[in-house]
Amino acid sequence: MFNIPRGTRDFTPVDMEKRRFVQKKMSFTFESFGYKEIQTPTFETLELFTAKSGESIIDELYSFRDKSGRELALRPELTAPVMRFYVDKLQMEPKPLKLFYFGNCFRYDRPQKGRYREFTQMGCELIGTSTEEAIAELIALAYNAIINTGLKNINLRVGNLDFLKYQYDKNLSEFFPIGSNELFRLIDKEDFNEIQNQFNEYNIPNNNQKEFMDFLNINKLLDLSNYIEKNHLKRYEEIFSLLENEFNIINIRPEMKIARGLDYYKGIVFEIDAPILGAEKQLCGGGEYELVESFGGKDVPTSGFALGFDRIILALETEKFSFPVIKTDVYIVPVNEDMIQKSIEIAQILRNKGILTDLDLLKRGISKSLKYANSKNAEKVIIVGPDELKNGFVTVKDMESGEQKLMEINNLAKNLKNN
Ligand code: AMP
Repeated sequence: MFNIPRGTRDFTPVDMEKRRFVQKKMSFTFESFGYKEIQTPTFETLELFTAKSGESIIDELYSFRDKSGRELALRPELTAPVMRFYVDKLQMEPKPLKLFYFGNCFRYDRPQKGRYREFTQMGCELIGTSTEEAIAELIALAYNAIINTGLKNINLRVGNLDFLKYQYDKNLSEFFPIGSNELFRLIDKEDFNEIQNQFNEYNIPNNNQKEFMDFLNINKLLDLSNYIEKNHLKRYEEIFSLLENEFNIINIRPEMKIARGLDYYKGIVFEIDAPILGAEKQLCGGGEYELVESFGGKDVPTSGFALGFDRIILALETEKFSFPVIKTDVYIVPVNEDMIQKSIEIAQILRNKGILTDLDLLKRGISKSLKYANSKNAEKVIIVGPDELKNGFVTVKDMESGEQKLMEINNLAKNLKNN
């Protein structure tokens, strides 16, 4: 017997029905906002991911050399691949360019509930505009994509990396020899013990520590004006107001602790979580970023987000969402071997009319077949027997009411659809 690799999962037919249901809902929401789907390869050159995030990211990657010695990596996320694709082939497309994707990602993470080594992200990238309306629409899209799956309890937090950098420069930069990246990574991980250790190590004056930490703990829009000048606040406030008033998002608050782990984010950043999930509750992360120029493209505003597809399903399950069950419309049972050919013929007619049709392949008795049909949630069972067949009829049994009727084969598809 072989074991499944650590951090990976198999999906049963029931799992897959849930996943396809959620995927369809989210694609529909993306399309309803004018986004078009694209696809990129599962592996890329390793350099694509180290270029902006540094060599340290290699620890988190599945990277390997192929038989020709090329250094490759399974993608850990899709923003860099989509930007590579954009720079390579899509720069001339009319702007704004709205793209969405659905794909598996791989990270050498420590597996736990909601955290896997192979997982799926679904996300959007917006290229060519950074107006307040564009950024508000992008954030609202992420929020709506989750709500439209049927999930009830989520929170949206909106931050601003320019504000965070400003506060860093004002209070900490002259004391920190290592720059802001390391600290921002700790903020992103909410490792406040280690942040305090660093403050102590670099002898940050108490007042500076306090101002910086108070700023990080802001959760009301009004309080921001104590830290950020009015003219710099305007864009952020405008986006916030659009989200609250035009996009009608209630569960929204400012959050200055959003630092995003990767170095290419700037400006507005946001996260959405489902508190019901506990430790791994973050469903979505995104914001404004700069990658195009460093990938060799012409400078253009870019922003986007990635949704943790697996966690959205976990959250729906935890909220006891009732996923629709895909039923078999019809299950056909030939009563003896002589009836098999005709049964196949009938099955093909029904399938061609779009009726989900299954057929007994085990040549077993009627009662066993009925049991099996039940386990497959069949709505109707068609029994093909010699006496009825002689007159061009079959017996149709409604599995819910138990009622049985004779139906003419010629009108079967039409009658089944009308029933
Ligand atoms: P990130 O690219 O790290 O901002 O991740 C975007 C979203 O993907 C997160 O908010 C999570 O919902 C999800 N995610 C990230 N890493 C994992 C993982 N190892 N397993 C499952 N979901 C993940």
